[in-house]
Amino acid sequence: MKIQSAVFEMSSPDLKTCPDSDLWEVALIGRSNVGKSSLINLLTGQKDLAKVSATPGKTKLINFFLINGSWNLVDLPGYGYAKVSQRDRREFSKAIAGYLEHRPNLRRVFVLIDSRLSPQAIDLEFLHWLSGREVPFSLIFTKVDKLKARALQENIAGFLAALSGVCEGAPEVLVSSAKSREGRVEILRAIQECWEEEAPAD
Ligand code: GDP
Repeated sequence: MKIQSAVFEMSSPDLKTCPDSDLWEVALIGRSNVGKSSLINLLTGQKDLAKVSATPGKTKLINFFLINGSWNLVDLPGYGYAKVSQRDRREFSKAIAGYLEHRPNLRRVFVLIDSRLSPQAIDLEFLHWLSGREVPFSLIFTKVDKLKARALQENIAGFLAALSGVCEGAPEVLVSSAKSREGRVEILRAIQECWEEEAPAD
């Protein structure tokens, strides 16, 4: 898929204030600092569309970007903040859960995993929650420029092994590097394929 236009549309604090639109959506989510903003900029070919934040936990809203005037790329708040209060943390997860469970135009969630880390409980817990609600998801291992090919393969295999203990089936696996641009074409293709999947029955 070619990205011809990418425009920030709006931010919503929760499901009920999300845009009243029936355009299909794909959402990106991951731990704070996983590289989500950098990936949005890479995919859309715009340097500053999503703010690459230095402070983890800054993005608290659901951000909508209208792509090619025909679908929405949705930037969900990062989970696993270190620096917010328990109460804020609960608020964020309610907003995320509401969107993921009840947004009818959502086609697929791309869950970003930091490729340098060993499997993190917070990622596995989130994926367990997601698969329990039958939300279709794919994995994107980020920052792959920071690892040698062999270490990357080992980390991905380690994560999938840990995941098999909490989710059924093998998810689609993609990689990305905002630095080398690796993965851009494959991720855009995977998004395109979401449109080609059969629409869910009402
Ligand atoms: P977010 O909090 O998930 O939106 O993460 P950001 O996109 O703000 O990135 C967090 C940090 O990781 C920043 O310092 C980025 O420059 C860095 N980063 C993000 N993606 C990559 C990548 O693919 N490769 C490398 N080497 N650094 C990255």
